[in-house]
Amino acid sequence: MFWGGFYIINIDRKMKVLKFGGTSVGSVKSILSLKRIVEKEAKRQPIIVVVSALGGITDKLISTGQLALQGDNTWKDEFSTMVDRHHKMIDTIITEPKSREDLFNAVDSLFEQLKSIYYGVFLIHDLSEKTQDTIVSYGERLSSKIVATLIKGAKWFDSRDFIKTERKHGKHTLDSELTNKFVKEIFVDLPRISLVPGFISRDKNTSETTNLGRGGSDYTAAIIAAALDAEMLEIWTDVDGFMTADPKVIKTAYTINELSYIEAMELCNFGAKVIYPPTIYPVCIKNIPIRVKNTFNSNSRGTIIKSRITNDRKPIKGISSIKGTTLITVTGLSMVGVIGVNRRIFTALAERGISVFMVSQASSENSTSIGVRDIDAQQAVDVLNREFAKEIEMGAMFPMHAESNLATIAIVGENMKHTPGIAGKLFGVLGRSGISVIACAQGASETNISFVVDNMSLRKSLNVIHDSFFLSEYKVLNLFICGVGTVGGKLLEQIRSQYEELKEHSRLKLNVVGIATSRNAVFNRDGISLDTYLDDLKNSEPSNVTSLRDNVVGMNIFNSVFVDCTASKEIASLYQTLVENNISVVAANKIAASSQYSDYIKLKQTALARGVKFRYETNVGAGLPIIGTINDLRNSGDKILKIEAVLSGTLNFIFNEIAADVPFSETVKRAKEQGYSEPDPRIDLSGTDVIRKLVILAREAGYKVEQEDVEKHLFVPDDFFRGTVEDFWKKLPILDEEFEKKRKLLEEQKKHWRFVATMDHGKTNVALQTVDSTHPFYNLEGSNNIVLLTTERYKEYPMQIQGYGAGASVTAAGVFANIMSIANI
Ligand code: ADP
Ligand code: ASP
Ligand code: MG
Repeated sequence: MFWGGFYIINIDRKMKVLKFGGTSVGSVKSILSLKRIVEKEAKRQPIIVVVSALGGITDKLISTGQLALQGDNTWKDEFSTMVDRHHKMIDTIITEPKSREDLFNAVDSLFEQLKSIYYGVFLIHDLSEKTQDTIVSYGERLSSKIVATLIKGAKWFDSRDFIKTERKHGKHTLDSELTNKFVKEIFVDLPRISLVPGFISRDKNTSETTNLGRGGSDYTAAIIAAALDAEMLEIWTDVDGFMTADPKVIKTAYTINELSYIEAMELCNFGAKVIYPPTIYPVCIKNIPIRVKNTFNSNSRGTIIKSRITNDRKPIKGISSIKGTTLITVTGLSMVGVIGVNRRIFTALAERGISVFMVSQASSENSTSIGVRDIDAQQAVDVLNREFAKEIEMGAMFPMHAESNLATIAIVGENMKHTPGIAGKLFGVLGRSGISVIACAQGASETNISFVVDNMSLRKSLNVIHDSFFLSEYKVLNLFICGVGTVGGKLLEQIRSQYEELKEHSRLKLNVVGIATSRNAVFNRDGISLDTYLDDLKNSEPSNVTSLRDNVVGMNIFNSVFVDCTASKEIASLYQTLVENNISVVAANKIAASSQYSDYIKLKQTALARGVKFRYETNVGAGLPIIGTINDLRNSGDKILKIEAVLSGTLNFIFNEIAADVPFSETVKRAKEQGYSEPDPRIDLSGTDVIRKLVILAREAGYKVEQEDVEKHLFVPDDFFRGTVEDFWKKLPILDEEFEKKRKLLEEQKKHWRFVATMDHGKTNVALQTVDSTHPFYNLEGSNNIVLLTTERYKEYPMQIQGYGAGASVTAAGVFANIMSIANI
C-alpha cells in the first residue's frame, strides 16, 4: 500500500528498532554513518529509528536554564551556540534546497519557543520541574527533525503522543499499559522507516511534556520494540559493544560477545552507562534480543543480549560501578527485637522515591547497611530517623549513621554460581592492593557480588579486579623506573625490545607509568613511550624525592612496581612508604637491604603483610642467582654455614687488569669507564660495596649482621676516601708504585690478588687475600664474581656460583627477572 508518500507495511511483518545515542548524532561524520546504517537496514525490514539529542545538548539545555534562572545574561550566548551547532549541522548534511528550507523553518520555530521559555525563566527567576522538562525536550525534538529530513522517506512521529507517564512517588513513571496500547495503534501500519525522538513523553493526565530520565532514549526504543514484538532492539552507540568495564576507565576492557538479560541488567543497574537500566526489562519479558553496536565501526559484531547464552564459561562477565554512594547504617543493640525493621526501612524510603541499590545485613540482625546515592543521602537519613524516632528515643536503636563519598562496585556473571572461591579471590586481590572493603553483599542468585569502597580507590579497584579475573586479555604490571643511568637505561631498552614478545607470548603488558631521574620525572598512567622518554624527561617538570613519592603513591595505580636503579640513599628511604601503599619494590640499589637490620626486617615484614614484593637479587652478583639460591636452600630446610665470595666485579676487574704497563690508578679509571664500578668508585675501593653485599648475604643466610660488624682489611689508605671525587682521582696515582712492587712479587709467587668476603657461622670479614693456583678463586677472570656456599647439605664440596658479577646489561637483566617474578605470582 502507498500512502501519503510513505510505504506502509503491515505490522505482522518482521521489524527492528534501532536507537542512536547522542554521540551517533553528535557530528557530521557520525550522522552520515547513521544514515548509511539506517538505509542498509531498511532494505531488509521496516525499522523504527529512535534518536537522542545531539551529543552534549541535553547537558547544555540544562546548564543554560540554570544560567537564566540565576539571572545570568550569558544564557543568550549559550543559547546561540546551540542554535549555531544545529544550523551548521543542517548546512553540511542537507543539500536539497527545499528540504533544507523546510527544516530550517521547523528548527528555527522550535528555537523561537525555547528562547521564549529561557527568557521567561530569566525574568521570573523561576525554573519549575515542568519548565525544566519542557526545556530538555527540545534536544530530541530538534535532532529527530534533522535526521528525519536527512533520511529520504522517513516518517517522523512525536513520541509524546504514545509514550505516556504518570506521577508516582514524585517521579514520572511510565504507564506501560496505556503506552503499549498507543504504540500498537500508532504503528498499526508500519512505514519502512519511522523516525522517533527518544527520551520525551507526556503525562497522561496533564498532557505536560515529561521524560523517561537521563539516558532514557534507550528506554523509548525498548518500549516500542516490546509493544511491537520487534525481532531485535539495536542500541547504536560510540563503543564496540557492551564491554567488560567502562572503557573510559579500564583501558584493557574489551567487548563481551554475549550477555544474558540478567547479567546485562545487573551491570546496567550498577552504572554501566551503555544502556539505561529500565531498558532491559520490557524486551526481556518479550524475549527480544538486544544488540549493542558501534555507529563508528558498524562492521564489528557488537554484543548480543538474550535469555540464553552459549558456551561461555567465564565466571565473571563484567564489572561496573557507581560513584557517589552513601552507606547508611541502621543499627542498635536491641534491634533484633524490633519487628519488621527491614520492611519499615524499605517502605519509608520507597514512599519518598529513594532507591536503594545495595543492602548488607549481618546475620545477627543488629545492623543493616544500605547503599543510596549521595544526592539522596540527607533525605534518606531524615526519613529513617523519623521512621524509627520512637525506637531511637527508647534506646533500642541508634540514630542513622551515614558515610558518603563512597563507590559501589559490582562484579557480575551468571557462571559465578557454579564456581567456588570467587568472593575469596575478589577480597584477596583487593586486600593485597591495599583497598579496604567497607561493605559487601552477594545476592542469593549469585550472579552479582557488590561491595563498597572509598571513591579514591575506585579506579584502582576496577583495574585490579579486571586484571586478576583475566577479564583482560593481558596481565598488566605498572612500572615506575627510577634512574636512567647505566642500569636503568639498559633496563628500559630491554623492556622496550621485549614488550611485544611478552605481550604476545606471556600475555603480559609491562606498562612503564613513571620514569624519574634525580632532577626530572614523567608520569602517565596509560604508559610512557620508551622511544621518546628521554625527550619527555627533558621537557618535564623538575622533580625531587618528595614529589616522586607523592606522585607514585598518589597515582594509586594497581599492580605497581617501583624499580630503583639508582644508588641513592634518599630513594631507598622511600621503600617503606611504598610497600605500605601496596607497591612492590625491585631494587638494584643495595642501600635498603644492607641498612640497619631493624629497618630491613620491618621493610620485609611490611611487604609480606601487604602481599607485595621486595626483591633485590641484583644487590649481589648482578644477574647471578645468589640470593634466590640461598633462599631456596633455606626454604628446603638446609642451613648456610659459611659463605666465601669474591663479590666485587670492580675489584676483581682491577686486580685482573693490573700489569707492568697498566698501573693501579689506570685500572680504576678503566673500571669506571667500562661501567663496572659504582658511579663513585670509592664505594668499591673502600670495601663499602663488598661489605654491603656480604651483610645482605649473611642476612639472607639467616644471621643478624650489621655493616659495623664486618671486620675489614683494606688496601687503600683511609684518607683517600675523604674530600671530593676530583681530589680522589688526583691522588690515586700516588699508590701506583707500591702496588707495582707487590704485583711483581705476586707474579713471581704465581699468586693472584682477590678481595674476599667471608661469613663463617655469622662472623664476617672482608680482606685482600692472595690465592694460589689450587684455590677456586684463582682463575676468576675479568669482573666475574664467585660465591662458595658451605651448607649442611653441601659441606664437603661447597656449592659454587660463578659468572659475570657486574655490568649494566646483566644487572638490568637481573632486575628484569625480578620484575618478571612479580608478574608471575
Ligand atoms: P549514548 O549517547 O550512545 O547513549 P552513552 O554515553 O549513554 O552513549 O553510553 C556509552 C558509554 O557508556 C560509552 O562511551 C562508555 O564510556 C560507557 N560505558 C560504561 N560502562 C560501559 C560498558 N560496560 N561497556 C561499554 N560502555 C560502557
Ligand atoms: N538526551 C537524553 C540524555 O542525554 C536522553 C538520551 O541520550 O538517552 O539524557
Ligand atoms: Mg545513553
